Amino acid sequence: MSQRIGILGGTFNPIHYGHLAAAEEVLGRLKLDHVLFVPSFLPPHKQDEVIPSAAQRQEMVALAIAGNPHFTLSDIEVKREGMSYSVDTVAELLHLHPAAELYFITGLDSFLEIQTWKEWERLLSLCSFVVLSRPGYSFTGLTSIDFMHKAAEKLHSLDRKELARVVLETSRGTVYLEQIPLYDISSTDIRQRVRQGRTIKYLLPERVETYIIKNKLYG
Ligand code: ATP
Ligand code: MG
Repeated sequence: MSQRIGILGGTFNPIHYGHLAAAEEVLGRLKLDHVLFVPSFLPPHKQDEVIPSAAQRQEMVALAIAGNPHFTLSDIEVKREGMSYSVDTVAELLHLHPAAELYFITGLDSFLEIQTWKEWERLLSLCSFVVLSRPGYSFTGLTSIDFMHKAAEKLHSLDRKELARVVLETSRGTVYLEQIPLYDISSTDIRQRVRQGRTIKYLLPERVETYIIKNKLYG
């Protein structure tokens, strides 16, 4: 049987339990063999922010996923350098794993902006997408995307938690919409907490917390 590989891209600045719990949930729901965590090199949408080096963000991912045999760190975007575009990453992964089925995992907040991504139509045709609920965002918001328009009723049912999953066979490709247990955690909030001297305990793995303190990140 062909390998089923999930891809979770992100800045991971820093990685937290929202990412880890989401990846584990998708692994089970979609019966994936493993999930690749792909830290971006220069995130195209975040050039104004001063961020820790790619090596540091990678190190935090490595610490966070250690011990989970189904989670793997991929340095594909950091190695490529330059702007990290998902379409380039997926094309490269397809080349490396020609027989694999790829599932690109994003939170609702990211997917709402899909039409601004480089070659987004091609990207959707290259792999399936898995879009996850995230606090503060509703699936109904996706109706503004032309190929999601017709799914309004189903999106509404997801938001009301009457459905846990909707699979859309769109003109662009297959999109799995998943209502998963919500974790109200974001890297932005964690960075702000560190700056303000507030606790970040239980928002991310202890090893990552220790790394942040030791390396004086976000201070
Ligand atoms: P930032 O606040 O810096 O944007 P973030 O918490 O959104 O950080 P990212 O690295 O931007 O983390 O996220 C990578 C991917 O994981 C995105 O697709 C994002 O939507 C998803 N994601 C992050 N946190 C959660 C969460 N708590 N629940 C569901 N999805 C999440
Ligand atoms: Mg984000």
